[in-house]
Amino acid sequence: MVSTLGDLLSSQPSTSPALILPSSPSLSYGELAIHTNALADTLAVTHNQRVALALPNGVELVLAFLAVASLGAVACPFNPGYTQAEFEFYLEDTKPALLLVPRGFTTSTPAPSCISAARKLAVPVKEVAFDYSAIARPLPPFTRPKVHPDDVALILHTSGTTGRPKAVPLTHGNLLATARNIVNTYALSPADNTYLVQVLFHIHGIVAALLAPLLSGGRITLPSRLDPSRAWSEFAASGCTWITAVPSILQLLLHAPAPTGLKIRFLRSCSSPLSPSTLEQLEMRFGAPVLEAYAMTEAAHQMTSNPLPPLGAPRAMWARRPGSVGKAQGTEIAIYQGDTRVVAGIHGDVCVRAPSVTKGYVKNPKANAEAFLPDGFFRTGDRGFLDQDGYLTLVGRNSEIINRGGEKISPIEVDAALLGCSPAIREAVCFAVPDELMGQEVEAAVVLAKGETLDEAGLQALVGRVLADFKVPKHVHFVEGTIPKGPTGKIQRKNLTERFGKKNV
Ligand code: ATP
Ligand code: MG
Repeated sequence: MVSTLGDLLSSQPSTSPALILPSSPSLSYGELAIHTNALADTLAVTHNQRVALALPNGVELVLAFLAVASLGAVACPFNPGYTQAEFEFYLEDTKPALLLVPRGFTTSTPAPSCISAARKLAVPVKEVAFDYSAIARPLPPFTRPKVHPDDVALILHTSGTTGRPKAVPLTHGNLLATARNIVNTYALSPADNTYLVQVLFHIHGIVAALLAPLLSGGRITLPSRLDPSRAWSEFAASGCTWITAVPSILQLLLHAPAPTGLKIRFLRSCSSPLSPSTLEQLEMRFGAPVLEAYAMTEAAHQMTSNPLPPLGAPRAMWARRPGSVGKAQGTEIAIYQGDTRVVAGIHGDVCVRAPSVTKGYVKNPKANAEAFLPDGFFRTGDRGFLDQDGYLTLVGRNSEIINRGGEKISPIEVDAALLGCSPAIREAVCFAVPDELMGQEVEAAVVLAKGETLDEAGLQALVGRVLADFKVPKHVHFVEGTIPKGPTGKIQRKNLTERFGKKNV
């Protein structure tokens, strides 16, 4: 029985392959356990102490995370590419006893002063330059401390899409509850192999692409970085069966070269809205179901997902619903208006209750008081509605719903209409801008596919066929290359409002 993260590796046959590393030897569950134990031995941290992990995706981060968790200490993964100011914020917010950085970090990264800046904060930080080869030695005798499912294993910050990132503590029990739900939702088994493309310093990658596969005894293929030109050939060569990613990564992979005969069991999209037209294109190109899921850091990732079709079922029978994030999976989802729960079909605040939900933000009583309802439901900050069958449709984040003269506009609906109205459109994100007359007005940033020449009026006419006039973006900003996203690949509408909305005020 796996009740803490420390049980994950030992619960599988030690010779089963666990980590497939395309450019170095792969590791079995047994080898992974040996390296994890050896690293745990060198960390010298105790129960509940925090360990900051400023490491890029790679075997070192996997080992470090599992080692810290196995000691009953708390892993705090950060993006190693953070600027000095960001680094200071995260260190100040988590006050780690130990900071793990890649070897050479102090000299080779663009912001070497990060480490000394951390010291200036009077944070008791001890530098450990991580040398993977040095710990690849036989397992020393090591007595595991007693770790409890209610112990905090991870402190992660939310993506900061709507404001300053909030620190979320997650226990072993929270994380394993979601990992179990994911295993059940997608029938993950030792025959599966996931192609890990999400960063491992945010919840999506940690839970969906690392913990759930390990819990099911499956394999994880860990490329050193996402290279769309090689991704599908690496996927095929490693015998991968599925992938989970944010829609912006799936968009890149949709247009990436792929070998013929690629066999994919399913593609999972999560963490940002997936437009029905992108879902359709992915399914047509790869012949596999695209299952959109809905997640947040505070719920240790997944809350709902579209269901996996039975093996071999024809596409017409697939129960996934484009535009919906699917049904509760081991969680309860309810819609509230204020403190009142409403029935199917009525729009309101999406709330969740589940064993995976955090006990509360770190040192943030105001946010906790706002988030938790007396019956234990947690307000996600998203707006949406359930249908009679329990499928959830998100309308947008409460803070991002566009209010045009009292008329509420769903940004998710406008994005989907833009992306679906012409194959000339590669990316599209709408956002609110201040407007003297209407309070807010809809505008959009659009990236056209190479060689396409759609103009503003042409695009407005096309999208006006599917959207009421008041929802049609009043201005379209054509952007070259790509629309800037947050660190996890998520759309950040507030940045677009800041960038394009100033001229109207
Ligand atoms: P912050 O809370 O700091 O503003 P964030 O909410 O983006 O940042 P995360 O916990 O990473 O931080 O993301 C959770 C949010 O992501 C959800 O509340 C929801 O708004 C959005 N989200 C997740 N999955 C989907 C999805 N399938 N479709 C639309 N939105 C999604
Ligand atoms: Mg949030």
